[in-house]
Amino acid sequence: METLNRRQVTDEASAAQSIDPGTECTAYSYQPVIDVMSSFPTIWDTASLVNGDTEASSLFATINATLNSKLPNVKPKGTSTGDFSNVGYSASDPDCWWTWSQCTNPDSSLGINADHTTVPEPDTWGLGFDDGPNCSHNAFYDHLKNNGQKATMFYIGSNVMDWPLQAQRGLTDGHHICVHTWSHQYMTSFSNEEAFAELYYTRKAIKAVLGVTPTCWRPPYGDVDNRIRLIAQGLNLTNYVWSDDSEDWKTSTAGSNVTEADITANYQAVVSKASNGTYKASGPIVLTHELTNFTMSEFMSQYDSIKAAFKYVVPLASAFNITQPYTENNVSYPDFLAYTNQSSSASSSVSVSGSSTGTDTTAGASSSATSNSSGGSSTKSSGSPKLIVNFFAISVLAGLISCGTLL
Ligand SMILES: [Zn+2]
Repeated sequence: METLNRRQVTDEASAAQSIDPGTECTAYSYQPVIDVMSSFPTIWDTASLVNGDTEASSLFATINATLNSKLPNVKPKGTSTGDFSNVGYSASDPDCWWTWSQCTNPDSSLGINADHTTVPEPDTWGLGFDDGPNCSHNAFYDHLKNNGQKATMFYIGSNVMDWPLQAQRGLTDGHHICVHTWSHQYMTSFSNEEAFAELYYTRKAIKAVLGVTPTCWRPPYGDVDNRIRLIAQGLNLTNYVWSDDSEDWKTSTAGSNVTEADITANYQAVVSKASNGTYKASGPIVLTHELTNFTMSEFMSQYDSIKAAFKYVVPLASAFNITQPYTENNVSYPDFLAYTNQSSSASSSVSVSGSSTGTDTTAGASSSATSNSSGGSSTKSSGSPKLIVNFFAISVLAGLISCGTLL
């Protein structure tokens, strides 16, 4: 009975066809995900180390030893749903706890990296969307694609496992993929092991489904302290929070009285700051979401006025000149100059290949990251079949990743 309700999509391209939310969000199965499910925590549960996962256990042991030596007194706080009412905490904010004081600069003696809240480029909107991949994001992703607009996508691990073909579209479209935890709960509430697992298995899910290993993350609700920062740092994940919050997420929060008009006003407040000199030295990172059809359509309706007010609207990788955004050193991304000077005819080449197992996919991409004119066309060989396409139309080799049916 259940099978009758499922959608027969087998690759990213077929999953990208419909813009009907009901169709898009009809469940499907994808064999490469089925094949690796037992190596992951239960979807949407708080993550913990999977029994028998010696690789994860070993890395956790290393990170945990660092935690115990550097931060022996930083304990979990509150509940995973964000109830901190019973937390006793010093007003001096010793843990640089964002939720307490919006602290983003840990004591430099700790060797913990500061969070990014803005982009270094003036008059530039740092564009990112949280909570995807949303099953019904095709109209939104079509809009970005039609405008040649790339963004940083903070994906939830459980969503990647639920909607792997939607996740693949993010990479295929040239977006910059980052980690947004496994179950989207308050990270400072978790034990060291749980916090590690929330990040580790999301990173691993993105590798399994997309073939790339992210090096960036964002804590749900911004809830991070030095203990969580150190765990993320041990996983080679740089933390990007934000300077401005659209609060688009609040419209779907139970009990919230935030209206859609409020969200429009929030967007316009950031837009108006662009003309009063607020962003003369550095640009904002704005918190926006791929969470609901409202949050996606609201961005689309605001996009023209954002572009008119800001000199540039860029994904975070390009804003920070990160030309290798993934651990795999054969995937590259345009730096700020290359990204902002691109035209529809100036392109770089990229190639992405995947294996049928879904677990050892490799992605190869090469762009003319240091060039601001026409793109290069190199591709590095890894011994697997390659598809060379325009940089901003990365195409996963569907035939290799394929064979998905139902999950
Ligand atoms: Zn989120």
